[in-house]
Amino acid sequence: MTSPSTAQEIISINPATGAEIARVAVTTLPELDAAVERANHAFHHSGWKSLLPHKRALVLHAIADGLLAEKESLAHLQMQDNGKPLGECRGMVESAIGTFRYYASVCETIEGDVTPSRGDYVSFTVLEPFGVVAAITPWNSPLMNDAAKVAPALAAGNAVLLKPSEDSPLLAPELARIALAAGLPKDLLQVVQGRGADVGAALVAHPGVRMISFTGGTTSGRAIARVAGDRLVPAALELGGKSPHVVFADADMEHAVAAVVAGIFGSAGQSCVAGSRLFIDASIYDEVLSAVVTRAKNLRVALPDADGVEMGPLASFHHRERVAAFVDRARAEGGRILCGGAAPTGGDYDHGAFYLPTVIDGLGPQAVACQEEAFGPVLVALPFKDEADLIAQANGTAFGLACGIWTESFKRAWRIGRALEAGSVWINTYKQSVTSTPFGGFKNSGIGREKGIDGLRLYAQVKSIYLGLHEQPLAVAK
Ligand code: NAD
Repeated sequence: MTSPSTAQEIISINPATGAEIARVAVTTLPELDAAVERANHAFHHSGWKSLLPHKRALVLHAIADGLLAEKESLAHLQMQDNGKPLGECRGMVESAIGTFRYYASVCETIEGDVTPSRGDYVSFTVLEPFGVVAAITPWNSPLMNDAAKVAPALAAGNAVLLKPSEDSPLLAPELARIALAAGLPKDLLQVVQGRGADVGAALVAHPGVRMISFTGGTTSGRAIARVAGDRLVPAALELGGKSPHVVFADADMEHAVAAVVAGIFGSAGQSCVAGSRLFIDASIYDEVLSAVVTRAKNLRVALPDADGVEMGPLASFHHRERVAAFVDRARAEGGRILCGGAAPTGGDYDHGAFYLPTVIDGLGPQAVACQEEAFGPVLVALPFKDEADLIAQANGTAFGLACGIWTESFKRAWRIGRALEAGSVWINTYKQSVTSTPFGGFKNSGIGREKGIDGLRLYAQVKSIYLGLHEQPLAVAK
């Protein structure tokens, strides 16, 4: 089933049941122009950018309170919008709440610098907002990704136009509604809806937009970067990944196998940091792979609010088609499908966009399935001979988002962690992510860092100010 949406209307389908849950009007180009104009007006005249930081922080805390008050209904809405297990959806609302609280604190405490003077003046820096920021988000974790952009952009004093994915359009308007009720000046956060190729592209190209913050696929990121380069506006890009998850022979096997399975099959693999390439020391390859396959086969694939669910459906029917095509291509490349490789059938499975946890081996590191992102529950396994072989294989893709390393040797973990090209390195853990720690990619996985204090600086430009203290008039020449 492909998306039934039209150019004027997005039809949101619950991927667990196939039922229509909402229709959302696509923003027209005149509406987009008007929204940018209102955002610019709010940026210049609402008083937000000059509000004292601790007062701006109060509004951000009030947004967090508003999200908390509606946590359960927001979690259910996300579950219907993109099919993630309810427990994960609750976690994502909690993450959004934490992000607003964190940036409220950063907003109050971030400082400029007093810089060493070389004359009769005091020199220092202040952070200033850009103006209207375009925040463009993907469908896999809508509210969490929206908050990761909106909270720091507002904390820095900007206005935000938020464009959620056409595949998960329902959470962003809720965030804007809650923000307005929490006291955010009108029009400072607005939502535009539509496909990336038309509404997204028009937003990025709009002359009233002064900064772009994008999370999504590498191909879209490249297209946006081209426009941003032409317009000379900054673009922060959080893109895709093909993250290596490495198991050495001295690893704690119980923990390593559990993390490998959680690292790829959590969120049904629809996570930018999914550990989608499993590298196993050749001396323990069969043993570890067999434990991973056994665990994958036993995962409970079910409706997202079922008891004990471990994997729900994929986020849409057309995404399931993409994942199935990815696996078919791996099969055609000579890959051995050790489990999964198909949609489950019978009962609830027949109505939703389900796909089985899939493990593939027998492919070389250059196979398409080992190079490209599936963004689904598909793990490819590869053996390595030694550290040099591992580093060459693991770094041998265009991506560099994250990696996981399982070993009891601290020195080896350090060596490999420094050698792998990745923005986040997890040693004896996987997929940990907190709002206080910078996140972003190396290579084709992105430009810039979200989260942490850097996450606020992303939305601010540095202004240097010199305060003259001269006793004598300035001379033309010294
Ligand atoms: P996508 O690139 O298709 O779309 C992402 C968003 O960008 C959507 O809102 C879409 O409408 C918009 N868009 C697409 N093309 C555009 C264009 N030319 N101009 C302006 N906007 C455009 O990605 P997706 O399928 O929604 O999400 C999956 C991708 O997102 C995966 O590659 C995944 O790895 C990546 N992702 C990355 C992170 C991260 O933090 N690095 C987090 C989540 C998802």
